[in-house]
Amino acid sequence: HLAKEQGSEVKRFSKGMTTIAREKLILESDLRKGLERGEFYLEYQPKMSVEHGNILGMEALVRWNHPVRGPVSPGEFIPLAEESGLIVPLGEWVLYEAFRQNKEWQNKGYDPLCMSVNLSIRQFRQPRLAEQIGRMLEEIDLDPQYVELEITESMTVDKDAAFEQLKRFKQLGLHISIDDFGTGYSSLHYLKNMPIDRLKIDRSFVSEVMSGQSDAAIVSTITSMAHHLKLKVTAEGVENEEQLEFLRNQHCHEAQGFLFSRPVPAGQFERMFLKKLG
Ligand code: C2E
Ligand code: MG
Ligand code: MG
Ligand code: MG
Repeated sequence: HLAKEQGSEVKRFSKGMTTIAREKLILESDLRKGLERGEFYLEYQPKMSVEHGNILGMEALVRWNHPVRGPVSPGEFIPLAEESGLIVPLGEWVLYEAFRQNKEWQNKGYDPLCMSVNLSIRQFRQPRLAEQIGRMLEEIDLDPQYVELEITESMTVDKDAAFEQLKRFKQLGLHISIDDFGTGYSSLHYLKNMPIDRLKIDRSFVSEVMSGQSDAAIVSTITSMAHHLKLKVTAEGVENEEQLEFLRNQHCHEAQGFLFSRPVPAGQFERMFLKKLG
């Protein structure tokens, strides 16, 4: 009886399905297969000192090379993975691979750097995430001070749960940053109380910093607020010298963007940016 009901449900659903919805289902099943077949890899974008121009760390960004479509952007497949729940195994893979790569670079004798990894909301809500990360770090033997987790403002809406999760991360010794800062829900009260280390000013403000008066005001206000709250601050999406000069005048610590480099595969990142100690 139940099966019959479910069957008719499915039929009704597929009849009314738009091309877009069907496409989505196909991509979702491709995502699942892609994970099994190892079609995902990471690229790395450097995080640079605004004042000195040297490298301070890197951000890991996931890439999917679809066997037929070619590269699919994370803006497209992350929301799908989130919806279908696949983000949990995919996110686990990303964390593990980022940690492993960072350790590999340290083993090669490069100056150790802090690697940022993006978390998605469903991943962040997993109560055992901190424990899992702790186990990965132990297995890989990576010092937690070389890991930064990026969350977004929307993940702190449920403030008690978010606080508990962030506290677990801090107890492990990880750094935490708020990505795309300024675009989401955020209350200054939470900002004061959440155990975070860094704000990353969203690219949309940084890109208009020389043309829009309000964007310039927003960037300088976020930067100075970060200073007062003893938080570090990173500007995302820096594409030209004028923007960098603006950030320098604001005493912004760190910048990321195409001015320095697009995200690149591990081998290229190593050749372009990593230096041996001493
Ligand atoms: P995000 O974490 O804010 O990452 C920054 C995005 O801006 C990246 O896009 C990067 O390539 C791009 N970008 C960096 N500098 C510039 C610039 O100067 N100009 C312009 N126009 N763009 C710049 P990407 O790699 O396509 O990633 C998009 C978003 O997808 C990320 O935004 C992040 O929210 C999500 N994402 C990427 N990798 C992962 C992952 O491993 N896990 C999760 N949960 N999300 C991820
Ligand atoms: Mg990010
Ligand atoms: Mg961002
Ligand atoms: Mg983002």
